[in-house]
Amino acid sequence: MFPLHSVQGQHDISVNQRVVQRKSASMQYMKISKIIEPVLNFFFPDVCVICGEDTDKNNLSVCRKCLNKIEFIKPPYCQTCFLPLADGGAHCWQCRRTKYHFEKIIAVGKYTGVLRGLILKFKEKDFLKTVLGNLLLEVLVKNIALNQFDLITAVPLSKKKEFVRDYNQSQLLAELLADKTKKQVVSGNLVRMKDTKPQFELTRAERLVNLRDVFFVKNPSVFKNKNIVLVDDIATTCSTLEECSTVLKKAGAKKVFCAVLARD
Ligand SMILES: [Zn+2]
Ligand SMILES: [Zn+2]
Repeated sequence: MFPLHSVQGQHDISVNQRVVQRKSASMQYMKISKIIEPVLNFFFPDVCVICGEDTDKNNLSVCRKCLNKIEFIKPPYCQTCFLPLADGGAHCWQCRRTKYHFEKIIAVGKYTGVLRGLILKFKEKDFLKTVLGNLLLEVLVKNIALNQFDLITAVPLSKKKEFVRDYNQSQLLAELLADKTKKQVVSGNLVRMKDTKPQFELTRAERLVNLRDVFFVKNPSVFKNKNIVLVDDIATTCSTLEECSTVLKKAGAKKVFCAVLARD
């Protein structure tokens, strides 16, 4: 997925012993199982999960060099769905002809390179919530004023998927955002009733059927008259965010703002 420079860069013999030890640890990373990884992470927490280099103990698990490679979304982008617009303008073709139930989507960057790598690794490495959550927090506070929303909730995984993965990464992001913005995080109230096929594999018509009756609000009074920030990892077709927003609005939510790590 990513070039592991520390593994390929065998020329780098002059570095000190400590770095060499970390590099050998990063080589092991590729081979060892999910069970041993947390142990290694405990002993070598300052090794970049992307390139294996030293993170200078930045507590982010990613080195500065890799962080600088993230392709952040810069204007011009669609004012509704955050899709980069090569030719400028306020809205993308899709948003000009669609009325969504959410106000807008905000995103950290494009689903490529380092950000894509981090999101994929986040499925197994929950400690990446710090670096990814902080990136999301930055775009959130830049684009949505704190007085514009009341609470934060995450796009839910199915019970089966959450059991297999141990956690819902969007929920971890929602918790971090809530903690930093001093807002309430609501978990377990927006629920997913069944697993669905990945949306990008389907046509537009199939997508709508695929997501029908998938999401459900247990207790509508929690969302009633609230402005909500809805968190997910990636927005590809926007149909998951739209379906969740529809359900939240039906439950009485005033406005829904979507915050995602990557816009694909
Ligand atoms: Zn790195
Ligand atoms: Zn758009």
